[in-house]
Amino acid sequence: MLGYQPNEVIGHEMHQLLHHHHADGSPYPAASCKVKLASVSAQECRVDDEVFWRKDGTRLPVEYSAAPLLVDGVVMGAVVSFADITTRRAFDSDAERQAAELRAAVAGGELVVHYQPKVELASGAVVGLEALVRWQHPQRGLVFPDGFIPLAERTGVIADLTAFVLEEAVAQHARWLSTGLDLPVAVNLSVDSLTDPGFPDRLEGLCRRYGVAPCALELEVTESGVMAEPTLAIVVLTALVAKGFALAIDDFGTGFSSLAYLRDLPVSWVKVDKSFVMDLAHNDPNAHIVRGIVALVHGLGKRVVAEGVETAEGLAFLLGVGCDVGQGYHWSRPMPASDLTSWLQEYHGHGIPGQLLTVTP
Ligand code: C2E
Ligand code: MG
Ligand code: MG
Repeated sequence: MLGYQPNEVIGHEMHQLLHHHHADGSPYPAASCKVKLASVSAQECRVDDEVFWRKDGTRLPVEYSAAPLLVDGVVMGAVVSFADITTRRAFDSDAERQAAELRAAVAGGELVVHYQPKVELASGAVVGLEALVRWQHPQRGLVFPDGFIPLAERTGVIADLTAFVLEEAVAQHARWLSTGLDLPVAVNLSVDSLTDPGFPDRLEGLCRRYGVAPCALELEVTESGVMAEPTLAIVVLTALVAKGFALAIDDFGTGFSSLAYLRDLPVSWVKVDKSFVMDLAHNDPNAHIVRGIVALVHGLGKRVVAEGVETAEGLAFLLGVGCDVGQGYHWSRPMPASDLTSWLQEYHGHGIPGQLLTVTP
């Protein structure tokens, strides 16, 4: 075994992936967990057909089993076992190859950004967009972020990736502004941005270059990103807010959620993780959790986004508990910028109110 015992409990992120689906709605077979490959260090590892192939095209001698660990019905982790130590050596060299490939992809323009609308529940108006990166891989087709963000974070490629997505989002916002469409764009930050004291100034410079106001950019951070280096992260986040950027806590309710961070972080938005929202029914535990989060967040003077709204029933529930904004397949999957204008016109053309009826293509 790779430095851990059979059936040792590892990982805390599997619950997020268990709910992931391919764009066509079919279940996503991958599970990504933080596993201890050696007793000294934790390393990200994907349990995934895509990753566990050798360069020569043969499959790695990996036998794994993965099972969710449930606590009160909530998936808290995974039990994973691997077959043998040769896996690690092969995985390491494969990871290096993939890191080089990803670095080249970022530099070579293979990343694309899709945008998903955020809808104010009370009015039905589209009030913002989230920028979500994809890798347009020449052989593998469109690769979703869970297939390469962990690798990017582990190998340092994330700095260039984040810079690319931020510039793309700011430039796209400026293009939309010139057509009369003024929607804030949210971008996901990784831990490297939160521990980089120069990040707020650079981001301000980027916005100035494109004539975009900082308040048009929302920055989504996860609590685990903040907790990696909380003191520095809070300095960076406070500087971002002082410059006028809006902050949101993403995936709230998962990972190591801490109410102290919810209280202390200078965020204006809290995004309830989609695992609580996707199959929301009125009397299930998720309904109690979401109702509680909405009340808690409102009590702290912040606003709530529910991500993963897939059904009309879920939307009705969220409206009933006073949730502010929703995002999910109920309205739209993330789409290329080029599709957004016609999507907005069709959406508002169906009699849903909003500020966007005047958008010119
Ligand atoms: P996230 O920031 O929580 O983004 C929301 C994810 O939920 C997106 O997945 C979106 O497509 C998906 N989603 C939205 N509505 C629904 C729904 O109704 N049902 C379901 N099942 N899923 C829904 P996506 O695009 O695959 O991104 C996954 C994660 O990858 C993101 O989660 C974010 O953590 C990360 N990510 C995406 N783009 C970036 C980026 O540019 N930088 C960084 N650092 N992370 C990114
Ligand atoms: Mg997000
Ligand atoms: Mg999220």
